[in-house]
Amino acid sequence: MSAARTACYIGIGSNLGDARANVERAIERLKGLRDTSMNAQSSLFRTAPVDAGGDDYINAVVRIDTALSAQELLQALQAIELDFGRERPFPNAPRTLDLDIELYGQQVISTEALTVPHPRMTQRAFVLIPLLQIDPLVTIPGLGPAHTFVPNVAGQAIHRI
Ligand code: ADP
Ligand code: MG
Repeated sequence: MSAARTACYIGIGSNLGDARANVERAIERLKGLRDTSMNAQSSLFRTAPVDAGGDDYINAVVRIDTALSAQELLQALQAIELDFGRERPFPNAPRTLDLDIELYGQQVISTEALTVPHPRMTQRAFVLIPLLQIDPLVTIPGLGPAHTFVPNVAGQAIHRI
C-alpha cells in the first residue's frame, strides 16, 4: 500500500543568471522528486523584486502530490537550491533559485525551520497570481480563499511570459 499523498504548492523564483532557464530546469527537478507527482504548473511570470534590489524575477508555482513529510520536502527543495548554486549572503539577496513551500495540504506548521502556509504568500503577487492561475478556488488554512488577497497585491507589477 502506498502512503497517502498531500497536495502541496511550491513557489519558484530566480533572478540570477538565466532566470527563465533556472525556473524551467527547477520544474523538471521537482518532477523527479521521490514519491511525488506534479499535477499542475503555472505559466512563468516576470516580476520586479519586492523589498530587494537586483534584476527582475522569473516566478512560477507548481502543485505536487507528495508522500514526503513537510520537513523532508523542505530538505529536498534545499538540496535542489544548492545544486543550482544558491548562496545566502544576506536576506533577500538575488538568488539563482528559491523554492518555498507555500501550502502543504491544509496543514498549519510552525517550527524553527518551517512556517506553512508561507507567511508572506498573501502579500506577494508573484505567489498569489500563479497560484490562482492553477487553482482559482484554493484556500489558505486559517485565512480563507486565496483570491480575497489579490487586492493586497494589486500594486505589484507582474507579467505572464
Ligand atoms: P526567503 O525564501 O524567505 O527569501 P530563504 O530561501 O533564504 O529565504 O529561506 C530561509 C529559511 O526559510 C530556510 O532556511 C527555511 O528553513 C525557512 N523557511 C520557513 N518556512 C519556509 C517555507 N514555507 N518554505 C521554504 N523555506 C521556509
Ligand atoms: Mg526561500
